[in-house]
Amino acid sequence: MGVFVERTSQTEPLPAGLYIVATPIGNLGDITMRAADILARCDGVACEDTRVTGKLMKHLGLSKPLWRYDDHAGEKDRARLVASMHDRAVALVSDAGTPLVSDPGYRLVNDCREAGIAVTTLPGACAAVAGLTLSGLPNDRFLFAGFLPSKYKARKDVLEELGGIDATLVFYETGPRLLKSLAAISEVLGARDIAVGRELTKLHEECRRGLPDGLVAYYETHPPKGEIVLMIGPADPDMVQHDVDALLRNAMGQMKASQAAASVARMTGSDRKALYARALELKNQ
Ligand code: SAM
Repeated sequence: MGVFVERTSQTEPLPAGLYIVATPIGNLGDITMRAADILARCDGVACEDTRVTGKLMKHLGLSKPLWRYDDHAGEKDRARLVASMHDRAVALVSDAGTPLVSDPGYRLVNDCREAGIAVTTLPGACAAVAGLTLSGLPNDRFLFAGFLPSKYKARKDVLEELGGIDATLVFYETGPRLLKSLAAISEVLGARDIAVGRELTKLHEECRRGLPDGLVAYYETHPPKGEIVLMIGPADPDMVQHDVDALLRNAMGQMKASQAAASVARMTGSDRKALYARALELKNQ
């Protein structure tokens, strides 16, 4: 393992450029030593919400200029910030976790690169990765897809689009929307292995595993509070033919054979054409 240890002193000025700094997702103890060092030595911090970042800086005993920045900032404001980095060290943080992961920063990083500004990253907490590690779901392949859309049709479309991918799917979620998302998963993908990671790294951290319908029943009586990562395990390739036939028959009760094949392909990850052929066999039996 190659290890690189910077020899830094809190009095040394930082080279100019953009420093992408991950911050904790709940537990302030998760700030990294390197993040604390860079926040102490930068010329200022670009952040989503100056009150949130102000609290973190206070916890670290630091006082620096805080500049509000998000990707909706006007072109001119962003260009000014980028130009200032030719001779200023600017730390980019978000309210929690890793900047750019469902958070602002993408345009800023892109513009810095184009302007030849030095950009470096300080990895740390990220709710998607924390949830995945806690879930026990397969993590050799995972796909992070941000927040599911809030509208019924759009949410179903995303689940239909991603449901057949052979990977654990990772979404960000909110308490008030969790039940609707679980119901949509049940409708579109059927009995998939789900993990709900809630309040990760905080006092009431929990990770609950189950099938969508069981989790709906649970959260109907235990309304979920706080921040949530919702994970969907990959389709089960070991599903036996007997189960697949039952799914196909059930689906064909409600839709055409071709649609039933597509729907069961999303649920099981099986080949749609093979399922269609099987659906026609079942129909003719
Ligand atoms: N950039 C952040 C990161 O690296 O995780 C994510 C920012 S995104 C705007 C905020 C969402 O992340 C929340 O709505 C929730 O879905 C998830 N999240 C953040 N902190 C969390 C926590 N402690 N436990 C569970 N989910 C969390």
